Amino acid sequence: MKYLSVIGSTGSIGTQTLDIVRSNQDLSVTALAAGKNIDLLEQQIREFQPKIAAVYDEARASELKLRIKDLDTKVVSGMDGLLEAASEPSCSVVVTAIVGMIGIRPTIAAMRAGKDIALANKETLVTAGHIIMPMAKELGVKIYPVDSEHSAIFQCLQSGEQKDLDSLIITASGGPFRNKTLEELQNVTVEDALKHPNWSMGRKITIDSATLVNKGLEVIEAKWLFDVDFDRIHVVVQPQSVIHSMIQYQDGSVIAQLGTPDMKLPIQYALFYPEHRPLAGERLDFAALKEISFQEPPVDVLRGLPLACKAGKMGGSMPTVFNAANEKAVDLFLNRKIKFLDIYDIIEDTMEAHKIQKDPSLEEVLETEQWVYEHIESR
Ligand code: NDP
Repeated sequence: MKYLSVIGSTGSIGTQTLDIVRSNQDLSVTALAAGKNIDLLEQQIREFQPKIAAVYDEARASELKLRIKDLDTKVVSGMDGLLEAASEPSCSVVVTAIVGMIGIRPTIAAMRAGKDIALANKETLVTAGHIIMPMAKELGVKIYPVDSEHSAIFQCLQSGEQKDLDSLIITASGGPFRNKTLEELQNVTVEDALKHPNWSMGRKITIDSATLVNKGLEVIEAKWLFDVDFDRIHVVVQPQSVIHSMIQYQDGSVIAQLGTPDMKLPIQYALFYPEHRPLAGERLDFAALKEISFQEPPVDVLRGLPLACKAGKMGGSMPTVFNAANEKAVDLFLNRKIKFLDIYDIIEDTMEAHKIQKDPSLEEVLETEQWVYEHIESR
Protein backbone atom coordinates (compact mmCIF):
# COMPACT_ATOMS: atom_id res chain seq x y z
CA MET A 1 0.00 0.00 0.00
CA LYS A 2 1.22 3.50 -0.86
CA TYR A 3 0.07 6.29 1.45
CA LEU A 4 -0.35 9.76 -0.03
CA SER A 5 -0.47 13.26 1.25
CA VAL A 6 -2.08 15.54 -1.32
CA ILE A 7 -1.15 19.18 -0.79
CA GLY A 8 -3.64 21.16 -2.89
CA SER A 9 -6.25 18.40 -3.04
CA THR A 10 -9.11 20.66 -4.16
CA GLY A 11 -7.43 21.88 -7.34
CA SER A 12 -7.08 20.49 -10.84
CA ILE A 13 -4.08 18.24 -10.11
CA GLY A 14 -5.34 17.41 -6.60
CA THR A 15 -8.77 16.20 -7.74
CA GLN A 16 -7.25 14.17 -10.59
CA THR A 17 -4.83 12.59 -8.11
CA LEU A 18 -7.81 11.54 -6.00
CA ASP A 19 -9.46 10.05 -9.12
CA ILE A 20 -6.36 7.87 -9.47
CA VAL A 21 -6.65 6.84 -5.83
CA ARG A 22 -10.26 5.80 -6.53
CA SER A 23 -9.10 3.50 -9.33
CA ASN A 24 -6.16 1.89 -7.51
CA GLN A 25 -6.82 -0.14 -4.39
CA ASP A 26 -3.19 -0.02 -3.30
CA LEU A 27 -3.29 3.76 -2.83
CA SER A 28 -4.57 5.36 0.33
CA VAL A 29 -4.77 8.98 1.50
CA THR A 30 -3.35 9.97 4.88
CA ALA A 31 -3.36 13.76 4.54
CA LEU A 32 -5.17 16.37 2.48
CA ALA A 33 -4.49 20.10 2.32
CA ALA A 34 -6.25 23.02 0.65
CA GLY A 35 -6.32 26.80 0.75
CA LYS A 36 -9.93 27.67 1.44
CA ASN A 37 -12.36 25.43 -0.44
CA ILE A 38 -13.71 23.60 2.59
CA ASP A 39 -16.87 22.43 0.83
CA LEU A 40 -14.92 20.20 -1.51
CA LEU A 41 -12.36 19.36 1.16
CA GLU A 42 -15.12 18.14 3.47
CA GLN A 43 -16.42 15.80 0.73
CA GLN A 44 -12.89 14.52 0.17
CA ILE A 45 -12.36 13.94 3.89
CA ARG A 46 -15.63 12.02 4.20
CA GLU A 47 -14.65 9.85 1.24
CA PHE A 48 -10.94 9.24 1.96
CA GLN A 49 -10.88 9.55 5.78
CA PRO A 50 -7.35 10.99 6.04
CA LYS A 51 -5.60 11.31 9.40
CA ILE A 52 -4.96 15.03 8.85
CA ALA A 53 -6.65 17.76 6.86
CA ALA A 54 -4.97 21.15 6.56
CA VAL A 55 -6.71 24.38 5.57
CA TYR A 56 -4.45 27.38 5.11
CA ASP A 57 -7.19 29.86 5.94
CA GLU A 58 -7.58 29.86 9.75
CA ALA A 59 -11.26 30.84 9.89
CA ARG A 60 -12.26 28.18 7.38
CA ALA A 61 -10.19 25.61 9.25
CA SER A 62 -12.23 26.37 12.39
CA GLU A 63 -15.44 26.01 10.41
CA LEU A 64 -14.29 22.70 8.94
CA LYS A 65 -13.42 21.44 12.41
CA LEU A 66 -17.05 21.96 13.45
CA ARG A 67 -18.42 20.41 10.29
CA ILE A 68 -16.47 17.17 10.64
CA LYS A 69 -16.56 16.73 14.39
CA ASP A 70 -18.19 13.33 13.82
CA LEU A 71 -14.95 12.11 12.17
CA ASP A 72 -11.46 11.25 13.51
CA THR A 73 -9.61 13.48 11.00
CA LYS A 74 -7.48 16.11 12.74
CA VAL A 75 -7.91 19.60 11.25
CA VAL A 76 -4.86 21.86 11.20
CA SER A 77 -4.35 25.33 9.74
CA GLY A 78 -1.94 27.93 8.40
CA MET A 79 1.58 27.18 7.20
CA ASP A 80 2.18 24.95 10.25
CA GLY A 81 -0.81 22.90 9.17
CA LEU A 82 0.53 22.49 5.63
CA LEU A 83 3.88 21.38 7.05
CA GLU A 84 2.19 18.87 9.32
CA ALA A 85 0.12 17.46 6.44
CA ALA A 86 3.24 17.21 4.27
CA SER A 87 5.17 15.30 6.91
CA GLU A 88 2.38 13.08 8.28
CA PRO A 89 4.32 10.06 9.61
CA SER A 90 2.53 7.23 7.81
CA CYS A 91 2.56 8.89 4.38
CA SER A 92 5.21 7.78 1.88
CA VAL A 93 4.58 10.07 -1.11
CA VAL A 94 3.61 13.73 -1.05
CA VAL A 95 1.84 15.08 -4.13
CA THR A 96 2.64 18.78 -4.33
CA ALA A 97 -0.49 19.95 -6.14
CA ILE A 98 -0.54 23.38 -4.52
CA VAL A 99 -0.10 26.44 -6.74
CA GLY A 100 2.66 29.01 -6.26
CA MET A 101 5.78 29.54 -4.17
CA ILE A 102 3.82 28.70 -1.05
CA GLY A 103 4.63 25.10 -2.00
CA ILE A 104 8.33 25.43 -1.16
CA ARG A 105 8.17 24.92 2.59
CA PRO A 106 5.74 21.94 2.54
CA THR A 107 7.95 20.29 -0.10
CA ILE A 108 11.04 20.73 2.05
CA ALA A 109 9.20 19.52 5.17
CA ALA A 110 8.10 16.41 3.28
CA MET A 111 11.63 15.70 2.07
CA ARG A 112 13.08 16.19 5.55
CA ALA A 113 10.53 13.65 6.80
CA GLY A 114 11.83 11.18 4.19
CA LYS A 115 8.88 11.33 1.79
CA ASP A 116 9.20 10.93 -1.96
CA ILE A 117 7.69 13.80 -3.91
CA ALA A 118 5.31 13.66 -6.88
CA LEU A 119 6.00 17.22 -7.96
CA ALA A 120 3.39 19.28 -9.79
CA ASN A 121 4.26 22.54 -8.05
CA LYS A 122 6.84 23.81 -10.53
CA GLU A 123 7.22 27.18 -8.77
CA THR A 124 9.11 25.34 -6.02
CA LEU A 125 11.83 24.09 -8.35
CA VAL A 126 11.99 27.33 -10.32
CA THR A 127 12.74 29.38 -7.22
CA ALA A 128 14.46 26.87 -4.96
CA GLY A 129 15.76 24.17 -7.31
CA HIS A 130 19.30 24.89 -6.11
CA ILE A 131 18.18 23.96 -2.58
CA ILE A 132 15.69 21.17 -3.34
CA MET A 133 17.74 19.03 -5.76
CA PRO A 134 20.90 18.68 -3.60
CA MET A 135 18.67 18.12 -0.57
CA ALA A 136 16.81 15.28 -2.31
CA LYS A 137 20.14 13.66 -3.14
CA GLU A 138 21.46 14.05 0.37
CA LEU A 139 18.27 12.73 1.98
CA GLY A 140 17.85 9.93 -0.54
CA VAL A 141 14.31 10.93 -1.49
CA LYS A 142 12.97 10.77 -5.04
CA ILE A 143 11.33 13.57 -6.97
CA TYR A 144 8.96 12.30 -9.67
CA PRO A 145 7.75 14.87 -12.18
CA VAL A 146 4.00 15.36 -12.62
CA ASP A 147 4.15 18.16 -15.18
CA SER A 148 3.28 16.45 -18.49
CA GLU A 149 6.38 17.72 -20.33
CA HIS A 150 8.72 16.61 -17.57
CA SER A 151 6.97 13.29 -17.20
CA ALA A 152 7.42 12.86 -20.97
CA ILE A 153 11.14 13.61 -20.70
CA PHE A 154 11.42 11.29 -17.70
CA GLN A 155 9.71 8.51 -19.68
CA CYS A 156 11.95 9.14 -22.71
CA LEU A 157 15.04 9.02 -20.49
CA GLN A 158 14.23 5.42 -19.56
CA SER A 159 15.46 4.51 -23.07
CA GLY A 160 19.12 5.29 -22.52
CA GLU A 161 21.80 6.78 -20.31
CA GLN A 162 22.14 10.36 -19.10
CA LYS A 163 25.77 10.49 -20.28
CA ASP A 164 24.59 10.01 -23.90
CA LEU A 165 21.95 12.73 -23.72
CA ASP A 166 22.36 15.69 -26.05
CA SER A 167 19.32 17.88 -25.43
CA LEU A 168 15.76 18.18 -24.21
CA ILE A 169 12.99 19.36 -26.54
CA ILE A 170 10.05 20.69 -24.58
CA THR A 171 6.83 21.02 -26.55
CA ALA A 172 4.32 23.82 -26.08
CA SER A 173 0.73 24.06 -27.26
CA GLY A 174 1.25 27.80 -27.70
CA GLY A 175 -1.90 28.48 -25.66
CA PRO A 176 -4.92 30.44 -26.87
CA PHE A 177 -2.86 33.36 -28.27
CA ARG A 178 -0.34 31.40 -30.32
CA ASN A 179 -1.11 33.23 -33.59
CA LYS A 180 -2.08 36.62 -32.21
CA THR A 181 -0.29 39.89 -32.93
CA LEU A 182 0.68 42.39 -30.24
CA GLU A 183 -2.11 44.64 -31.44
CA GLU A 184 -4.68 41.87 -31.09
CA LEU A 185 -3.47 41.17 -27.55
CA GLN A 186 -3.94 44.78 -26.36
CA ASN A 187 -7.45 44.22 -25.09
CA VAL A 188 -7.84 40.48 -24.56
CA THR A 189 -9.98 39.63 -21.54
CA VAL A 190 -9.49 37.24 -18.62
CA GLU A 191 -12.07 34.96 -20.26
CA ASP A 192 -10.12 34.92 -23.55
CA ALA A 193 -6.91 34.04 -21.71
CA LEU A 194 -8.61 31.27 -19.73
CA LYS A 195 -9.71 29.45 -22.91
CA HIS A 196 -6.87 26.96 -23.30
CA PRO A 197 -7.22 25.02 -26.56
CA ASN A 198 -6.13 21.59 -25.26
CA TRP A 199 -5.76 21.38 -21.47
CA SER A 200 -8.17 21.96 -18.60
CA MET A 201 -6.12 23.32 -15.67
CA GLY A 202 -6.20 25.72 -12.74
CA ARG A 203 -6.57 29.46 -13.45
CA LYS A 204 -3.00 30.52 -12.72
CA ILE A 205 -1.30 27.94 -14.94
CA THR A 206 -3.84 28.61 -17.69
CA ILE A 207 -2.86 32.28 -17.75
CA ASP A 208 0.81 31.22 -17.60
CA SER A 209 0.17 29.11 -20.70
CA ALA A 210 -1.35 32.07 -22.51
CA THR A 211 1.69 34.27 -21.74
CA LEU A 212 4.18 31.43 -22.41
CA VAL A 213 5.48 32.09 -18.89
CA ASN A 214 4.52 28.49 -18.16
CA LYS A 215 6.92 27.25 -20.83
CA GLY A 216 9.64 29.39 -19.30
CA LEU A 217 8.94 27.98 -15.85
CA GLU A 218 9.12 24.51 -17.40
CA VAL A 219 12.52 25.20 -18.94
CA ILE A 220 13.89 26.17 -15.52
CA GLU A 221 12.12 23.22 -13.91
CA ALA A 222 13.70 20.88 -16.49
CA LYS A 223 17.16 22.30 -15.85
CA TRP A 224 16.87 21.32 -12.19
CA LEU A 225 15.06 18.02 -12.60
CA PHE A 226 17.32 16.63 -15.29
CA ASP A 227 20.54 18.53 -14.59
CA VAL A 228 20.79 19.90 -18.15
CA ASP A 229 22.13 23.38 -19.01
CA PHE A 230 19.82 25.98 -20.53
CA ASP A 231 21.59 25.91 -23.90
CA ARG A 232 20.64 22.23 -24.24
CA ILE A 233 16.93 22.80 -23.57
CA HIS A 234 14.86 23.77 -26.60
CA VAL A 235 11.20 24.66 -26.96
CA VAL A 236 9.03 23.95 -29.98
CA VAL A 237 5.33 24.69 -30.43
CA GLN A 238 3.32 21.56 -31.23
CA PRO A 239 -0.25 22.89 -31.35
CA GLN A 240 -2.12 19.58 -31.09
CA SER A 241 -0.50 18.74 -27.69
CA VAL A 242 0.08 15.18 -28.79
CA ILE A 243 3.85 15.04 -28.34
CA HIS A 244 4.36 15.89 -24.69
CA SER A 245 8.14 16.39 -25.06
CA MET A 246 11.22 14.73 -26.52
CA ILE A 247 14.86 14.08 -25.88
CA GLN A 248 17.73 13.83 -28.33
CA TYR A 249 20.75 11.61 -27.80
CA GLN A 250 24.22 12.45 -29.05
CA ASP A 251 23.80 10.07 -32.00
CA GLY A 252 20.86 12.15 -33.25
CA SER A 253 18.20 9.70 -32.11
CA VAL A 254 15.09 11.53 -30.94
CA ILE A 255 12.74 9.83 -28.47
CA ALA A 256 9.28 11.30 -27.95
CA GLN A 257 6.41 10.53 -25.60
CA LEU A 258 2.95 10.88 -27.12
CA GLY A 259 -0.58 10.57 -25.82
CA THR A 260 -3.87 12.39 -25.54
CA PRO A 261 -3.72 15.48 -23.30
CA ASP A 262 -4.73 13.92 -19.97
CA MET A 263 -2.91 14.85 -16.75
CA LYS A 264 -3.94 11.59 -15.11
CA LEU A 265 -1.26 9.78 -17.11
CA PRO A 266 1.72 11.76 -15.75
CA ILE A 267 0.22 11.84 -12.24
CA GLN A 268 -0.24 8.06 -12.29
CA TYR A 269 3.25 7.46 -13.70
CA ALA A 270 4.73 9.59 -10.92
CA LEU A 271 2.90 7.48 -8.36
CA PHE A 272 3.70 4.07 -9.86
CA TYR A 273 7.02 4.58 -11.68
CA PRO A 274 8.31 2.46 -13.40
CA GLU A 275 4.92 0.83 -14.01
CA HIS A 276 2.61 1.92 -16.83
CA ARG A 277 -0.61 0.82 -15.18
CA PRO A 278 -3.93 0.63 -17.04
CA LEU A 279 -5.62 4.00 -17.28
CA ALA A 280 -9.07 4.50 -18.78
CA GLY A 281 -9.50 7.29 -21.29
CA GLU A 282 -9.22 8.25 -24.91
CA ARG A 283 -6.39 6.90 -26.99
CA LEU A 284 -4.54 8.65 -29.80
CA ASP A 285 -6.26 8.07 -33.12
CA PHE A 286 -3.61 8.84 -35.69
CA ALA A 287 -5.97 8.55 -38.65
CA ALA A 288 -8.30 11.13 -37.12
CA LEU A 289 -5.38 13.31 -36.04
CA LYS A 290 -4.05 13.54 -39.62
CA GLU A 291 -1.09 15.75 -38.78
CA ILE A 292 1.32 16.71 -36.05
CA SER A 293 2.72 20.13 -36.82
CA PHE A 294 5.47 22.31 -35.37
CA GLN A 295 6.14 26.04 -35.05
CA GLU A 296 8.78 28.28 -33.53
CA PRO A 297 7.52 29.77 -30.25
CA PRO A 298 6.25 33.35 -30.90
CA VAL A 299 8.77 34.88 -28.48
CA ASP A 300 8.54 38.45 -29.81
CA VAL A 301 4.86 38.63 -28.90
CA LEU A 302 4.50 36.20 -25.98
CA ARG A 303 7.60 37.24 -24.05
CA GLY A 304 7.18 34.90 -21.09
CA LEU A 305 9.60 32.32 -22.45
CA PRO A 306 12.58 34.62 -23.21
CA LEU A 307 12.10 36.50 -19.93
CA ALA A 308 12.15 33.22 -18.00
CA CYS A 309 15.24 31.99 -19.84
CA LYS A 310 16.99 35.28 -19.10
CA ALA A 311 16.11 34.96 -15.39
CA GLY A 312 17.16 31.32 -15.37
CA LYS A 313 20.52 32.04 -16.96
CA MET A 314 21.17 34.93 -14.56
CA GLY A 315 20.44 32.49 -11.75
CA GLY A 316 20.70 33.27 -8.02
CA SER A 317 17.62 35.14 -6.84
CA MET A 318 16.48 36.17 -10.35
CA PRO A 319 14.27 33.13 -11.07
CA THR A 320 12.48 33.91 -7.79
CA VAL A 321 11.97 37.49 -8.95
CA PHE A 322 10.66 36.29 -12.30
CA ASN A 323 8.33 33.79 -10.66
CA ALA A 324 7.04 36.00 -7.84
CA ALA A 325 6.50 38.97 -10.18
CA ASN A 326 4.54 36.68 -12.47
CA GLU A 327 2.45 35.30 -9.59
CA LYS A 328 1.55 38.84 -8.51
CA ALA A 329 0.93 40.06 -12.07
CA VAL A 330 -1.31 37.08 -12.88
CA ASP A 331 -3.28 37.72 -9.71
CA LEU A 332 -3.73 41.38 -10.73
CA PHE A 333 -4.80 40.33 -14.23
CA LEU A 334 -7.28 37.73 -12.94
CA ASN A 335 -8.71 40.45 -10.69
CA ARG A 336 -8.99 42.76 -13.73
CA LYS A 337 -6.58 45.35 -12.28
CA ILE A 338 -4.15 45.21 -15.23
CA LYS A 339 -4.21 44.27 -18.91
CA PHE A 340 -2.80 41.07 -20.33
CA LEU A 341 0.35 42.63 -21.79
CA ASP A 342 1.06 44.45 -18.51
CA ILE A 343 2.05 41.05 -17.09
CA TYR A 344 5.28 41.17 -19.13
CA ASP A 345 6.00 44.80 -18.21
CA ILE A 346 5.59 44.06 -14.51
CA ILE A 347 7.94 41.06 -14.70
CA GLU A 348 10.52 42.97 -16.71
CA ASP A 349 10.37 46.08 -14.52
CA THR A 350 10.78 43.99 -11.36
CA MET A 351 13.70 42.04 -12.80
CA GLU A 352 15.40 45.29 -13.79
CA ALA A 353 14.96 46.77 -10.31
CA HIS A 354 16.38 43.71 -8.56
CA LYS A 355 19.91 43.45 -7.29
CA ILE A 356 20.74 39.82 -7.87
CA GLN A 357 21.81 37.66 -4.96
CA LYS A 358 23.93 34.58 -5.62
CA ASP A 359 22.97 31.20 -4.21
CA PRO A 360 20.15 32.46 -1.93
CA SER A 361 19.18 30.45 1.16
CA LEU A 362 15.54 29.45 1.68
CA GLU A 363 15.04 32.49 3.92
CA GLU A 364 16.54 34.73 1.24
CA VAL A 365 14.30 33.21 -1.45
CA LEU A 366 11.27 33.98 0.73
CA GLU A 367 12.57 37.48 1.49
CA THR A 368 13.04 38.08 -2.24
CA GLU A 369 9.44 37.01 -2.81
CA GLN A 370 8.31 39.60 -0.25
CA TRP A 371 10.53 42.27 -1.83
CA VAL A 372 8.92 41.55 -5.21
CA TYR A 373 5.39 41.93 -3.84
CA GLU A 374 6.29 45.19 -2.08
CA HIS A 375 8.08 46.51 -5.16
CA ILE A 376 5.07 45.83 -7.39
CA GLU A 377 2.61 47.28 -4.88
CA SER A 378 4.72 50.42 -4.53
CA ARG A 379 4.48 51.01 -8.28
P1 NDP B 1 -5.47 24.89 -8.97
O1 NDP B 1 -5.62 26.35 -8.89
O2 NDP B 1 -6.50 24.12 -9.71
O3 NDP B 1 -5.38 24.27 -7.50
C1 NDP B 1 -4.50 24.80 -6.55
C2 NDP B 1 -4.61 24.03 -5.27
O4 NDP B 1 -3.74 24.66 -4.33
C3 NDP B 1 -6.00 24.06 -4.66
O5 NDP B 1 -6.24 22.87 -3.97
C4 NDP B 1 -5.90 25.21 -3.67
O6 NDP B 1 -6.82 25.15 -2.59
C5 NDP B 1 -4.50 24.98 -3.17
N1 NDP B 1 -3.95 26.17 -2.54
C6 NDP B 1 -3.81 27.41 -3.07
N2 NDP B 1 -3.28 28.24 -2.14
C7 NDP B 1 -3.12 27.50 -1.03
C8 NDP B 1 -2.62 27.77 0.27
N3 NDP B 1 -2.22 29.01 0.62
N4 NDP B 1 -2.56 26.77 1.15
C9 NDP B 1 -2.98 25.52 0.83
N5 NDP B 1 -3.46 25.20 -0.38
C10 NDP B 1 -3.52 26.18 -1.28
O7 NDP B 1 -4.01 24.61 -9.56
P2 NDP B 1 -3.51 23.42 -10.50
O8 NDP B 1 -3.97 22.12 -9.94
O9 NDP B 1 -3.81 23.75 -11.89
O10 NDP B 1 -1.94 23.55 -10.33
C11 NDP B 1 -1.25 23.12 -9.18
C12 NDP B 1 0.23 23.10 -9.47
O11 NDP B 1 0.47 22.12 -10.47
C13 NDP B 1 0.77 24.42 -10.05
O12 NDP B 1 2.06 24.64 -9.60
C14 NDP B 1 0.78 24.18 -11.55
O13 NDP B 1 1.74 24.96 -12.21
C15 NDP B 1 1.13 22.70 -11.59
N6 NDP B 1 0.66 22.00 -12.78
C16 NDP B 1 -0.66 21.93 -13.06
C17 NDP B 1 -1.12 21.29 -14.19
C18 NDP B 1 -2.59 21.14 -14.47
O14 NDP B 1 -2.93 20.44 -15.42
N7 NDP B 1 -3.45 21.73 -13.72
C19 NDP B 1 -0.18 20.70 -15.14
C20 NDP B 1 1.20 20.77 -14.72
C21 NDP B 1 1.59 21.41 -13.58
P3 NDP B 1 -8.26 25.90 -2.66
O15 NDP B 1 -8.98 25.30 -3.82
O16 NDP B 1 -8.89 25.55 -1.37
O17 NDP B 1 -7.99 27.35 -2.82
